[in-house]
Amino acid sequence: MSDPFFSHIQHALQQRRLQHLYRTRRIVDGVQSTRIVVDGKPCLSFCSNDYLGLANHPDVVRALTDSAAREGVGSGAAHLISGHNRAHHELELELADFVQRPRALLFSTGYMANLGTIQALLDNKDAVFEDRLNHASLIDAGLSSGARFRRYPHHDIANLKKLLLSSNADKKLIVTDGVFSMDGDIAPLDKLVDAAQAHNAWLMVDDAHGLGVLGEQGRGSLEQYQLTMQQVPVLMGTLGKAFGSFGAFVAGNDDLIEFLIQEARTYIYTTALPPAIAEATRTSLRIARQDNWRRQQLHNLIQRFRQGAQQLGLSLLDSRTPIQGLVLGDSDAAINLANRLFDNDILVSAIRPPTVPVNSARLRITFSALHQEQDVDQLLSCLETVL
Ligand SMILES: *Cc1c(COP(=O)(O)O)cnc(C)c1O
Repeated sequence: MSDPFFSHIQHALQQRRLQHLYRTRRIVDGVQSTRIVVDGKPCLSFCSNDYLGLANHPDVVRALTDSAAREGVGSGAAHLISGHNRAHHELELELADFVQRPRALLFSTGYMANLGTIQALLDNKDAVFEDRLNHASLIDAGLSSGARFRRYPHHDIANLKKLLLSSNADKKLIVTDGVFSMDGDIAPLDKLVDAAQAHNAWLMVDDAHGLGVLGEQGRGSLEQYQLTMQQVPVLMGTLGKAFGSFGAFVAGNDDLIEFLIQEARTYIYTTALPPAIAEATRTSLRIARQDNWRRQQLHNLIQRFRQGAQQLGLSLLDSRTPIQGLVLGDSDAAINLANRLFDNDILVSAIRPPTVPVNSARLRITFSALHQEQDVDQLLSCLETVL
């Protein structure tokens, strides 16, 4: 008799192969930086979300190793049992100060922060409204919350307003990426705030790719738009991207954070981050706030790349952030181009459906403050040669 699990698994794998959507992993050795060794081959990387180049900063590394030497590695338990270390507490205070909110709550990952927060805030009498291109964790959170789930086309505020108007939900939550993770464009937060206020809804912003990068002080897309906590009651940020560490947080007022401590299941039922990670993040947060040159350098690199790409006639997505998308459409074309760049020792990731919509396969090129101008020029001249 055929085993239904095996046949399902084999069929799914076969479908992936036929659709050129089969994913494999490359093995990285050594240091996380702009030059990494991938499958044994040294290359220039434009793949990482370590935008400020802090993942391997010597002070950050020292904070981690010193803390581990003093206190060990594992936190030993969940936050509500005995895992809530002083390092977590201090980091929460510093994150709250950074984003200018009364409180912040650490989560083990951004995925869990989004899941736990949205599930806690909503139930089946509520509705959640999401941009179609929101990060998968936000989509999953909305779908699993029990609330009525509505998606609006990317940036389509008129459509969102119609959905809000026709909803008779008790509570309405609008959820958006601050910077869209695959396109690099910034959400129209001012318009989203207006829509939320007109319909008595709350707005939640996931600023995984904005924090540390956007705004004069790196306070992200909310700083760029000068938005207050009244306008955006729920702010979520991750620590594994610009801060070069690991983990995530939600920031808001005292009641929101106390509520999440009581109700967010992904906060309650999981082991607290290693305290050494929290210590490393405290250091990287300090550097991210101080080192304006890192944001300036990113800005310069992005300008240089966009100008060069324009001269080559490449069609880039409209983005002023370190995420630059070169859309090819066809999954095969994206993979082929990424492979040819890799032959030339340049690592760029090809992003295919279902991560991005069908027929919008692309190269996702990301910059770090540790890239040099020559690195950008090398990427451009290689694109010119292989295209
Ligand atoms: C990376 C990312 C997450 C998930 O964060 P992790 O800490 O990696 O789990 C959530 N939202 C967005 C927009 C992201 O880019």
